[in-house]
Amino acid sequence: MAAVERKDPAAMDAEIREKIHLEILKRTGAYHANDHILLPSGQHTSEYIEKTLVTTEPSFIEGLGAVIAKHFAQWPIDVVMSTGPGALILSHCVARAHPSRPVVVYGAKGVTGGRRRVTLPVEFQRLIRPGTKVLLVEDLVSSGTTLKLIISLIEQLGAHVVGIGCLWRRTSVDLDSRAVFSLVSRDFPTYPPETCPLCKKGLPLNEEFVRRRQGRRPSSVQETSAER
Ligand SMILES: [Zn+2]
Repeated sequence: MAAVERKDPAAMDAEIREKIHLEILKRTGAYHANDHILLPSGQHTSEYIEKTLVTTEPSFIEGLGAVIAKHFAQWPIDVVMSTGPGALILSHCVARAHPSRPVVVYGAKGVTGGRRRVTLPVEFQRLIRPGTKVLLVEDLVSSGTTLKLIISLIEQLGAHVVGIGCLWRRTSVDLDSRAVFSLVSRDFPTYPPETCPLCKKGLPLNEEFVRRRQGRRPSSVQETSAER
């Protein structure tokens, strides 16, 4: 019996660590589970993560950033690159905790002619040169498209991608067997409404996250002409 339990301590550790990380995300209000949620795509799911709430608790995000930094501590790193402004706070926390004291830059995401595009702002171009060692940091890796674009961008510049650190990775994503470290690795199944098992159980549908995006506008103020 004991031998069976000792069989895979690494997997067990990973499971415990993941539970801790999920609990931290839950405390920030970002992670929702055991619900019946309408996604912006129209699909239904039982779990949801609100990206923008992940970094609202400074000490939590610092702790999570330090876990990612510790994982990559044995490799020298010149630059931590955030895939976009969204993952910048996490990138800062990773860079702050990494022994190489890397600098932090971020990519700019956009869409041209219906295709996703990633660019490196001009100000950062002198920081990524041939031979530069880059650690990529992302908050959520869902399809992996953005990461793949950033990897080609870095490699085009002659720099080297040491690895990828992220908060959450959907396990189905394949990143060409690169070194990926994720605090949480799990897929949440999504269902079309017609075949959703949660609908079949008659659970009420939580439309909060879609309403929040569509209906409610962000609070804002505007300068008046007198202030110009
Ligand atoms: Zn449903």
